[in-house]
Amino acid sequence: MSHKVLIANRGEIALRAIRACKELGIKTVAVYSQGDKNLKHLKFADETVCIGPASPLESYLNAPSILSAAEVTNTDAIYPGYGFLAEDFSFAEKCEESGFKFIGPNSETIKMMGDKITAKSIAEKAGIQVVPGYKDDLPDDPDKIHAIAKNVGYPLMIKATAGGGGRGMRLIESEDELLDGLEITMQEAMNAFGNKVVYFEKFISNPRHIEVQIVADGKGNVIHLGTRDCSIQRRHQKLIEEAPASNINPELLSNTLDACLKLCKDINYEGVGTLEFLYENNAFYFIEMNTRIQVEHPVSEMITGFDLVKAQLKIALGIPTTLDQSKISFRGHAIECRINAENPRTFTPSPGLITKMHPPGGFGIRFDSHIYSGYEVPPYYDSLLAKIITTANSRSSCIKRMMSALDEFFVEGIETNHSLHQELMHDDVFNQNNHTINYLENEFFKNYE
Ligand code: ADP
Repeated sequence: MSHKVLIANRGEIALRAIRACKELGIKTVAVYSQGDKNLKHLKFADETVCIGPASPLESYLNAPSILSAAEVTNTDAIYPGYGFLAEDFSFAEKCEESGFKFIGPNSETIKMMGDKITAKSIAEKAGIQVVPGYKDDLPDDPDKIHAIAKNVGYPLMIKATAGGGGRGMRLIESEDELLDGLEITMQEAMNAFGNKVVYFEKFISNPRHIEVQIVADGKGNVIHLGTRDCSIQRRHQKLIEEAPASNINPELLSNTLDACLKLCKDINYEGVGTLEFLYENNAFYFIEMNTRIQVEHPVSEMITGFDLVKAQLKIALGIPTTLDQSKISFRGHAIECRINAENPRTFTPSPGLITKMHPPGGFGIRFDSHIYSGYEVPPYYDSLLAKIITTANSRSSCIKRMMSALDEFFVEGIETNHSLHQELMHDDVFNQNNHTINYLENEFFKNYE
């Protein structure tokens, strides 16, 4: 049976999805906003449909418009990518009701795992250690709230159960900040996610961010593609990711991977997914599960040779695919640098015309990007321009290859964080793999001031 997939996203992930569809002989429909007429992948799609004005709310987040585009093009499935509607259970539900296959888990699973409190309970049932804290309903009585917080211990994090994208969390250092901080976080969560439920989590002071990539077919077959370390972050958002995560006790790692597989079997998971952990003092603490493809998926692909986007499509469309852990082997190391249109220190977005650019290339270098010379970066969306991914036998060779790739790469006309990646590749702490999630903002920037 021939398939047609509508790609409900933009930028590099839309291009990535079209490439995977082409390899599988699947027809594609690209949707775009009025601010995105010059996107590269529109040239490669079989059909294109404009879904609304540039504002994301009126286009890529506009479910009725996307569903109408699917209807008029006779699409059978919708690929959500990451961001926008990728973890919006009500969109997945609307797809189900309208007879379109949402490429990912079903709406119930998205809802369940998208609620961080529920996700933590499910993880605990699978034998996974979660960040200690308090996740029951908070009482109204301020004294009781203080007692709960004291029991969790300061410093603590107040986190929105519906939070995401580094938003909806607040560090509380002492009891004086608690009640105001609680009120503000609840208000922010209500505004951003339409859900003001929050929970307390112990602040893990100096961890690494480590995550596990999962692939499941919804029929009980679940595999993992090992770990990624995403500790180089700014404002709780990742900048550099690598696979595998290094220096982890092998027994602990093996138990954690088994528990991740168990969790996915317990909930009869379908599609790709990522379990995220903070790792400190030889312990993993689960923080959340993302029920979608992640920006950093290429590093796992490069060390396994397993195409995650093709797997997503095959699983969703019922194209035969084998998920067999014994067929997954791990080779070498991979690193990804996210090139963003932003100031490398202040992170202020820098949209505008790319007057000239040159992509890196060569052995062990992958460039996932939608940009080209003459492309105008619109101001309305995420600042991600390109992902440079290098693969080599060892971490140190991978870093050297990244230095060379970054030296070849240039973008003119707009500001990017290219130079920050170059500095990091030459940084001793990064090279020695001694960094944690706090390194970039708390130490690296200070050293370079
Ligand atoms: P989001 O869904 O917004 O990405 P996460 O829960 O995945 O939020 O956390 C994102 C990042 O925030 C983590 O990688 C880490 O840097 C920081 N973080 C989250 N929870 C804690 C915690 N309990 N202690 C310390 N840092 C945390």
